[in-house]
Amino acid sequence: MTDSTPSLPPPVAVVLLAGGRGARAGFEQPKQMERLGGKAVLRWSLDSLAAHPAVSGGVLVANDDVMTAVGPLPVGWISADPGAERQQSVRSALAALAGWADDALVLVHDSARPGVGIDVVDRLLAALRTADAAIPVLPVPDTLVKANGGEAGDVVDRSLLARVQTPQAFRLGLLRRAHADAAGGAATDDAQLVRRLGATVATVPGDPRLHKLTYAADMAILSGLLGVGMMTRTAVGLGYDVHRLVAGKPLWIGGIEIAHSHGLEGHSDADVALHALTDAILGALADGDIGDHFPPTDARWRGAASHQFLRFAADRVAERGGRIDHVDLTIIAEAPKIGPHRGAIRARISEILAIPLERVSVKATTTERLGFTGRREGIAAQAAATVQLPEN
Ligand code: MG
Repeated sequence: MTDSTPSLPPPVAVVLLAGGRGARAGFEQPKQMERLGGKAVLRWSLDSLAAHPAVSGGVLVANDDVMTAVGPLPVGWISADPGAERQQSVRSALAALAGWADDALVLVHDSARPGVGIDVVDRLLAALRTADAAIPVLPVPDTLVKANGGEAGDVVDRSLLARVQTPQAFRLGLLRRAHADAAGGAATDDAQLVRRLGATVATVPGDPRLHKLTYAADMAILSGLLGVGMMTRTAVGLGYDVHRLVAGKPLWIGGIEIAHSHGLEGHSDADVALHALTDAILGALADGDIGDHFPPTDARWRGAASHQFLRFAADRVAERGGRIDHVDLTIIAEAPKIGPHRGAIRARISEILAIPLERVSVKATTTERLGFTGRREGIAAQAAATVQLPEN
């Protein structure tokens, strides 16, 4: 209104690139859709860039399947179709930003780098007060040599080198000109295109959390850098089992043999306690029950020692990348007395599951001579298993 009106800072737009298929990572879905700490890798940078107070909108460049999976876009954000190459995807985003003035600022970011902090964006925007382009860089900590056909070649002076990250920040008009001029030549990032126009690209300190997801092993690195555990889901499973007592059979309970006039009848060794425990662990995995995995119709399991079933369930937890936190077992029997054997049963279960003794609870009770257990017709067992599983 008057000459004394302070000039507003230019608006900031984001171009978030999520069009890649991530073939090198070996994931079944585009790598930017892998789950990290309960949300998609792509969502991490989308949420933090959209939440930055200087950012007023953005373009997410992604295929329709990714757009559907990622959920609603933040206010002020639109989508654009990716091209076959990165450069075409940026051009597609620039077309979607046609309504923005040349003096706006734009942050171009690769969605495979989920760890965008507010600080690095602040540093980039501060650099654009005097420069037309700015990129985050990190020093190279390793010794570098020329790769020389299986032999180490000459050392390269690492003090002359830097690792380039994204987001990269530009005056929108400059980025538009760089892409218009670059119709022919390819580049792996936008700063290179801008430099071809003769513009100066400032560097600001990067952030180790901007580590790029390239290979499957990078997921564990990113979990550590972002402080999100890969184990984020607790599951509790319950198990219950009953077997009939018959005269003249060995009695197996909790993986040990107990001297008694009667034993339990069943297809396997009929270890009622290990069966309940196996079902509890399978229950935590939502992975069916003991009968699904070891059908009584299969002759292989006739008279089988039940520690194999329990070990199988524990292995299923490990295969999922999970961990058994705790098991709690109650044996319901009138006779024999279980109390004197509790310590041995506990030790045996700890051994079969390969978890510490203090994570194994074994209890016993009678039913006051009531019901089938009270009449000594059978023995029952119930169990709970608490399991930690990766969130995905
Ligand atoms: Mg059974």
